[in-house]
Amino acid sequence: MACETTRNEPFLPDRELHPAEIPAGVDSRAFMMRSALIGATAVITGCSPATPEQQAAWPPPAAPPVPGSKVSPDLDVVKKAKGPVMTTLEEFYKVGPGPSSSHTIGPMRITYDFYQRCTNLPADQLAKVTGLKVHLYGSLSATGKGHGTERAALAGVIGKEPATVEPEFLDSLVSKPDQTFPVTMGDKTLTVSLKDMIYDSPKGDFPHPNTMTCKLMGDDAVLYGLEYYSVGGGFIEWKGYEPAKKGPPKYPYSTMAELQKHADASKLTVAQIVMANEVAVSGKSEAEVNAFIDKIHTAMVNIVKAGLEAPPGTLPGPIKLRTKAGEVYARAKDDPFEARRAMGLVSAYALAGSEENARGHLVVTAPTSGSAGVLPALAYSVGEGGRNLPQQKIRDGLLAAASIGYLCKHNATLSGAEGGCQAEIGVASAMGAAFISQAYDFAPQVVANAAEAALQHHLGMTCDPVAGFVQLPCIERCAFGAIKAYAGFVIAINEIPAHRRVEFDTTVAAMALTAKEMNAKYKETSEGGLAVSVTLC
Ligand code: SF4
Repeated sequence: MACETTRNEPFLPDRELHPAEIPAGVDSRAFMMRSALIGATAVITGCSPATPEQQAAWPPPAAPPVPGSKVSPDLDVVKKAKGPVMTTLEEFYKVGPGPSSSHTIGPMRITYDFYQRCTNLPADQLAKVTGLKVHLYGSLSATGKGHGTERAALAGVIGKEPATVEPEFLDSLVSKPDQTFPVTMGDKTLTVSLKDMIYDSPKGDFPHPNTMTCKLMGDDAVLYGLEYYSVGGGFIEWKGYEPAKKGPPKYPYSTMAELQKHADASKLTVAQIVMANEVAVSGKSEAEVNAFIDKIHTAMVNIVKAGLEAPPGTLPGPIKLRTKAGEVYARAKDDPFEARRAMGLVSAYALAGSEENARGHLVVTAPTSGSAGVLPALAYSVGEGGRNLPQQKIRDGLLAAASIGYLCKHNATLSGAEGGCQAEIGVASAMGAAFISQAYDFAPQVVANAAEAALQHHLGMTCDPVAGFVQLPCIERCAFGAIKAYAGFVIAINEIPAHRRVEFDTTVAAMALTAKEMNAKYKETSEGGLAVSVTLC
């Protein structure tokens, strides 16, 4: 079939495409294994192994997995009998600084929450306060330095929120780490600094791999403290957490099968079901929901543009990774082969969003920051970066995409620390496939099939960020997630929908099972896979 695209219309039309010393707290066996592998890789590649100084700058590898140290069944995020999906768009699509929703946005929201609680303590209790300490455990400790977790946590403590924090402020904590900041609680003013954000044990039987404690100190005594969990996608919980009271959904569903049943019975699209539920659960009007979706879409577009326009450079951290979104974009847009041009442009858009994340600039969790290049790339490609679909189609697409993210969160996980990268890029890709399918008005079965295909082909994908930085493999992985979303879409719209053998719910269950059985070395600890195979020259 002849391709109908033009130079200004890069996407194929609707029916086609679119150390010497072992660091304290580090397990000696894991450390020796990593050192041996790095040495062997250096011989093969001809690159010198990292110097002891370079290695000392890396986040320490996490200790080996502790049997049974999974995720506590008490956490709301894993409770079994939890009824229908109740997540709202504002909870799901969050704007905040990169590079990791669970390691930056979550911790910042946690310390901001703790700060707010502290301001409400009785004056006589606050009068005894002498300091504030935040302890980071598990994966937050293992790879937090590479993610800037301590800087995010400090920002929250001093009253900054993820959606409005200036990336320059976080950058200034890198260049001037000894800065101190006043924190006022009632009549009391404390001084805090990065030294109060403590990388504690990466090893232990924690309720969640991303566990934190926040403590208000009176000399050596804890006057008030709370244990928190950054459970993925920027969502947070705490000890004794109870979800906020919400309205009942108009079309209750906890599986895609149930969602589709509502859609079939009511002759509605997936987007219409999600919108009706959003109005019922959040209490907002449709106009207010649309205004929020437009805000998120604008943020996504701006993130892609910022990444494309950023001057070429080297990303922060020991990898010294060169950016490439701008270069890929410049060359791809002049590619004479339409299909290759379309793939190149989608890849460039995803690289742009993900490089913005790696810079620590603002991104949208969709579903996480590590995967935040995927959905913006697709939104841009069907919008002003390509097909110029009407805004309502993009709104519909983002609503359908949210339903995929909701179901994955509800029945599996969105956390790389809990489920590996299948839970981040895999879910983002599935959301993207649903987004495109809905934006082009395909039926609920096609939306579900496209999402299933994209998720299925990410099953088992591990999380192994080199040196704990959300760069390798994360940035290119966003491009692959976006391309696979298109592949899922193209297959779904060209197959006979009823013939798809695997249902979306089955694949989500498979992801949950794989997450449960995946070795902890591959869950954002930087202790396995690419993280121990790449030699930093
Ligand atoms: S490998 Fe995947 S899950 Fe892990 S930090 Fe990178 S994007 Fe996130």
